[in-house]
Amino acid sequence: MNSERIYIFDTTLRDGEQSPGISLNSFEKLEIAEQLARLGVDIIEAGFPVSSPGDFEGVQKIASGASGVTVCALARAIDNDVKTAWDAIKEAERPRIHTFISTSDVHLRHQLRKTRAEVLEIAKRMVALARSLCDDVEFSAMDATRSDPGYLASVLAAAVEEGAGTINIPDTVGYAIPSEFGGFIREQFKRVPALKDVAVSVHCHNDLGLAVANSLAAVEAGATQIECAINGLGERAGNASLEEIVMILQTRQAGLDRITGINTTEITRTSRLVSQLTGYDVQPNKAIVGRNAFAHESGIHQDGVLKERTTYEIMNAASVGRGQSDIVLGKHSGRHALKSAMEELGYKLSDDELNQAFIDFKRIADKKKKVTAVDLEHLASEELRELSDIFELKSYRVSASSDSIPASDVVIEKDGGRLTGRSESGGSMESIFKAIDNAVGAKGKLKDYQVRSVTEGKDSLGEVRVVVEVGGNAYAGTALSIDVVEASAKAYVRALNNAYRAGVVN
Ligand SMILES: [Zn+2]
Repeated sequence: MNSERIYIFDTTLRDGEQSPGISLNSFEKLEIAEQLARLGVDIIEAGFPVSSPGDFEGVQKIASGASGVTVCALARAIDNDVKTAWDAIKEAERPRIHTFISTSDVHLRHQLRKTRAEVLEIAKRMVALARSLCDDVEFSAMDATRSDPGYLASVLAAAVEEGAGTINIPDTVGYAIPSEFGGFIREQFKRVPALKDVAVSVHCHNDLGLAVANSLAAVEAGATQIECAINGLGERAGNASLEEIVMILQTRQAGLDRITGINTTEITRTSRLVSQLTGYDVQPNKAIVGRNAFAHESGIHQDGVLKERTTYEIMNAASVGRGQSDIVLGKHSGRHALKSAMEELGYKLSDDELNQAFIDFKRIADKKKKVTAVDLEHLASEELRELSDIFELKSYRVSASSDSIPASDVVIEKDGGRLTGRSESGGSMESIFKAIDNAVGAKGKLKDYQVRSVTEGKDSLGEVRVVVEVGGNAYAGTALSIDVVEASAKAYVRALNNAYRAGVVN
């Protein structure tokens, strides 16, 4: 028996990265891409190169750095988008251009202000242009589920004829329900016979909590590619969650008769890495990757599992890479131990990064007896953030007391030069953020501020995450320090770094 192969198209770095408050630098993106390659995804959608110079750079880095996987870039159906996408991915082992245009009347009328005939023409021309640059082209009909099925079929048929090897039918607004969506996909197969010669893909959003169910219905109707994201990240309520899709296909393989190329034991590691770098926590009861997904609380269940695991467990926790060794390092641990612990957590550090991480590790280990996996994950992500800092906090001073207005001074380094800023106003945190604004010449508005201790104990590391609005857009910054004031100032500077890379601060 040969099960049909389902291709896993991961869009964590494109659709996922569009979630509010996620700002990944190119080093963090590459780290995630390398882990996705180890996980065994077939296609990594690395970004939307025309959207910003930072995005272009991130895609380019992944294209030349990730191996054994197709690297895909998104492009609207516009000449310059398609050419820019190609420029960003042309160094990849296996490049793919993904171009899209809306096919629903509501989008045509209000957003594109074009007729059906015009959109059909544009779709043809853009697929042809993409094909002239790249052998592997994917075409998406945006808002497909709210499009007229007959018109959609004519656009899809034209895209296949122009050479698109993958046709994506997205539920852009998360409106579909499984039985209807399965029928919709079957109908397109009937209307467009050429679809059987290409990969038919779906991209489902989770607005009604049905993204995974809809994707599964599409697979049963003949789709062979699923677009999904780690931890279900993505616009609004997110995309179909990769780990759920994969584990459904694996756990129910006997009935569904489909397989993927995913190495499921890498799932937990990937989920934690993505959660750590994006700042998006995973809910404890999330299927597959939630902290409690395999925890049995009821006495009856515990009793059953102890007697025979399969009484209450449909999956083995080890099959998704949980419950492997608990890493604990101490101040006598060497560089090699640190390196292999980092690798076990999914971080592949270069020699320079490792050297810096080792210095920081020693500093922490001197204060704490045990350095755990959690400490190390935070440490590794701090190293990655530092790599792309343009503005760097060199020093700061805050004076505050119960009967005076706080005053702050900061020194920030940029390209070897020094910027200084001062502020005397508000609370002590506010005054330091204002001093940073003054030094950098930005006007930031603090939208969110979170502090948490990474591990227990008075000497624990503090991690601060801020979201700062600059020029109408939100940028996140995260920083780690043993001192919370320092972590706050660094996090704020980092958010401005992200705004700078997006071209909002100069
Ligand atoms: Zn989407």
